[in-house]
Amino acid sequence: MTYTCEDCGQESETAHTVTLYDDTGVEDRLQILCPGCYDEWLQSIKG
Ligand SMILES: [Zn+2]
Repeated sequence: MTYTCEDCGQESETAHTVTLYDDTGVEDRLQILCPGCYDEWLQSIKG
């Protein structure tokens, strides 16, 4: 089974699921990211 990264669109056999919040921090949803995009996401939340 492969996953399609919702950020870059690449298929990956391993995927990370992250929770996203909108600008108000109220709504959230799940997004599937490949390892590369997940690393970028981790960097982005660290500031
Ligand atoms: Zn990706």
